[in-house]
Amino acid sequence: MANMCNNILTLLGDKEELERFNEEYKNIITSFINNEEKIGEEEYKYEFITNWNPPKELVRKLTKKYPNIEFSLNYYVDNEIKGGEFAMINGELICNVEIDTYKEFREFLIVYFGFSYDFKCRECGTYLELEDFESYMNPEEYSRAKCVSCLSEDIYELSSGKNVDGAYLKSLGRLL
Ligand SMILES: [Zn+2]
Repeated sequence: MANMCNNILTLLGDKEELERFNEEYKNIITSFINNEEKIGEEEYKYEFITNWNPPKELVRKLTKKYPNIEFSLNYYVDNEIKGGEFAMINGELICNVEIDTYKEFREFLIVYFGFSYDFKCRECGTYLELEDFESYMNPEEYSRAKCVSCLSEDIYELSSGKNVDGAYLKSLGRLL
């Protein structure tokens, strides 16, 4: 099965052109769009899923046909550290940021996709979740929580400031 790429496409620009886009391309776009949302008079936002990769080539084609609309695509791929922002206007690339580190990736997910995390690494500042620690729970390392990014064990819970150590994991019933 393909890893799903989650996309948010935001259109901003000339009102008449946006309406023309919506009329001409709605059917094509909605063939792979799950839902869409019109935010304001001069901005359209579409959320949809593609396989493996964001539809950069489609954006490239559309931006030539609608030169007065800025197309901005934010995306991330499930089960990968892969996300970014891709924006074009009038056939010109204005942003192409690719994120491939844990720390940046999680911050990106918080800002653009509304994710939230319960824990943070004191050493490198990466946001963490309980599932991250479970991957380290082989019998030898069962009593520790480690940062997926720098492997530090200096991790704390954001809500309480408590250290996430063996005692903490035990309190959650996560230890043998
Ligand atoms: Zn770290």
